[in-house]
Amino acid sequence: MHVPFVDLKKQYLAHRQEIDQALVNVFEKSIFASDETISDFEKHFTEYLDAPYCIACGNCTDALEIILRALEIQRGDEVIVPANGWLSAAEAVVLVGGTPVFADNHPDFYTIDPNQIITKITSKTKAIIPIHLYGLPADTDAIRDIAHQHNIKIIEDCAQSHGATYKGKKTGTLGDAAAFIFYPTKNLGAYGDAGAIVTHNKQLAEKCGMLANHGQRIRNQHQLLGRNSRMDTLQAAVLNVKLRYLDQWNAQRGKHAAQYMELLKDTPIELPHAPAHMLHAFHLFVVRVKNRGQVIDYLEKKGILTAIHYPVALPDMPVFSHLQTKPEDYPVARSQASELLSLPIYPELTAAAIQYVAATLKACCR
Ligand SMILES: *Cc1c(COP(=O)(O)O)cnc(C)c1O
Repeated sequence: MHVPFVDLKKQYLAHRQEIDQALVNVFEKSIFASDETISDFEKHFTEYLDAPYCIACGNCTDALEIILRALEIQRGDEVIVPANGWLSAAEAVVLVGGTPVFADNHPDFYTIDPNQIITKITSKTKAIIPIHLYGLPADTDAIRDIAHQHNIKIIEDCAQSHGATYKGKKTGTLGDAAAFIFYPTKNLGAYGDAGAIVTHNKQLAEKCGMLANHGQRIRNQHQLLGRNSRMDTLQAAVLNVKLRYLDQWNAQRGKHAAQYMELLKDTPIELPHAPAHMLHAFHLFVVRVKNRGQVIDYLEKKGILTAIHYPVALPDMPVFSHLQTKPEDYPVARSQASELLSLPIYPELTAAAIQYVAATLKACCR
């Protein structure tokens, strides 16, 4: 059996008529930017999240950078980011001139560890960017306590957590501002690049909106030095269709995860943990194995494609070598980088495929 890591075509074929119609509508109207299709998406997304403000933009790194700029984080400021994760958060901090400070990840949940955040707070700390990694919300109450105590901002990286909840509230509404991405393979994916900024702060929302649009609120009245970071109409049209199915797709992901867990329990394979007060969006189904290299090769020979998120802890990346971090400061992220393995998961995955992946994995795991 062949099991791809993701399969976007299955989803397209299942919703082809609606998606094709939405795209044809854009072609017929022929307004490809700044159209109401985009403001409709912003409105639908705020309703979905139960958050007051959403600003559509180009991608997640832009969203993070714009939020940091709007919060006036700059040279000399420190922002705490997880040591294991995608680099956008740390990258955006460097792009505004700030210094990313890595905090180690939690050994069981893989998200940023609040106890490690505490050890990294200094008088220069201005913000924390938790990533709701793999679809599991970060330990929000603990992070909020720290943030309140030290008067620092929380910026959520929701690139992997569309629809995930913490104590019943959607990720994206848990901090001061949030960055979303709708890259095609994410839980809510466009057919190209697209992102969004979400916040409950009106002034911050206005400033982010201006920064994403050349610093103007009214055309040709540039008040701030901004940039161009726009979502195009075609992406918004696709997202307006797909948002309606997000919860249904996430429920499918949850069902698949439960099936994997049932089939893989009582094995040496470490499975994802999700506390009862969190709803995991299972953007990725990440297991931990000791002999990862062998496992990947074996699965591939059997037609199963896997991926690694992420093979190198962020502080070990050449791009961050100037930060001179100490390897002993993030042992968890480093061990995760060598042992975590992402198995195929997507809504359209079949029960038979999951059974095949689990059986094959069991045959080669230590
Ligand atoms: C996919 C992803 C991003 C992507 O950001 P881009 O700017 O679109 O490259 C950011 N953060 C995380 C955690 C991601 O998984």
